[in-house]
Amino acid sequence: MGVYSRAPLAFERGEGARLYTADGEAYLDCLAGIAVTALGHTNPKLVQAVKDQAEKLWHVSNIFMIPDQQKLADRLTQVSFADVVFFTNSGTEAIECAIKTARKHHWANGHPERLDIIGFDGSFHGRSIAAVNASGNPSYLEGFGPKLPGFIQLPFGDMDALREAVGPTTAAIIIEPVQGEGGARSVPEATLKAMRQLCDETGTLLIYDEIQCGLARTGKLFAHEWVEGAEPDIMALAKALGGGFPVGACLATAEAAKGMTVGSHGSTYGGNPLAMAVGLAAMEELTKPELMAHVREVAGYFTQQLSGLRDRFPDVVVDVRGKGLLIGIKLATPNREFMQHARDQHLLIAGGGDNCVRLLPPLTLTLAEAREAIEKLEGACEAARARAKAAA
Ligand code: PLP
Repeated sequence: MGVYSRAPLAFERGEGARLYTADGEAYLDCLAGIAVTALGHTNPKLVQAVKDQAEKLWHVSNIFMIPDQQKLADRLTQVSFADVVFFTNSGTEAIECAIKTARKHHWANGHPERLDIIGFDGSFHGRSIAAVNASGNPSYLEGFGPKLPGFIQLPFGDMDALREAVGPTTAAIIIEPVQGEGGARSVPEATLKAMRQLCDETGTLLIYDEIQCGLARTGKLFAHEWVEGAEPDIMALAKALGGGFPVGACLATAEAAKGMTVGSHGSTYGGNPLAMAVGLAAMEELTKPELMAHVREVAGYFTQQLSGLRDRFPDVVVDVRGKGLLIGIKLATPNREFMQHARDQHLLIAGGGDNCVRLLPPLTLTLAEAREAIEKLEGACEAARARAKAAA
């Protein structure tokens, strides 16, 4: 189906932060499959995990015990607020599970009327019918039938509107602690805290979508850990969890998941042995304190250098934002054109809402590679400036 607007570029192999075309041209990958190949392309530990498992057992149904699934669930619950985990093949499915978990919780508590899911402008939660309704972005909803009841959108970060909206039919609030597709917008600390408090006061469940911002991307294992006392009840993960192999997860407290009893949910592939072997290998790397320290160091370098670019190219760079290695650059010139200018420099970056481009490099990006990325971005800024001048 013609659903993608593709760049005229194909890659044959990848290694670390480099992608190579069939004729051997190298590109510096600062988009990492949109925050997926967080440990770099063909990371040797992940490659080994796939190879070893591929020779043993790929798939068994969830009607049997899957020891590595239990192990990965144990690992995820050890390092998070959660007590239980459901494994999926994508972020969207993790969101789907989160929404179902929230509604079923209230149903199990004798409140089936509590079914409204409150989301925010600029959010992105995936492409299933429930996920597009949860984010409410009109361009993703158009043509797919009426907007579903039970989903409410509010302006990003508007606590007054939120206090007004939460009521006897509210099931949950869903939010990305750092918006990804929306243009790397970080939710202010005070807002996340206030949301947690409001949820506690009203029995509303708090769902974090950390599919893009989670798993060390911001320099802490989960983005919400930057804020004390703002843990969720339910959280969706994916992307970096499989490092390129499709793995997602919905984490929840036992209380939040009380309605998710036998038969209430399921998946054919979710949590299969091959996916779990990769997930375990990825988690071992992603939870290393030295990786998180490295992310903070490289992110600090980017922040400093990008603010220099903003000063030198105020006609191109309007704002630099985000958290850790989820970096948004808001532009004065069209972001699609800027991505092309970056590609001309053999640098790959992602687009984003609010006329942003995003840098989402592998978390293993070296400082030397970050320096190279900045040089290439400077080249892209010069090209954008020249193009704007020629058009004026
Ligand atoms: N939520 C967020 C924050 C995302 O960034 C994405 C994907 O970009 C999704 C959900 C959907 O994940 P997937 O494309 O794996 O279904």
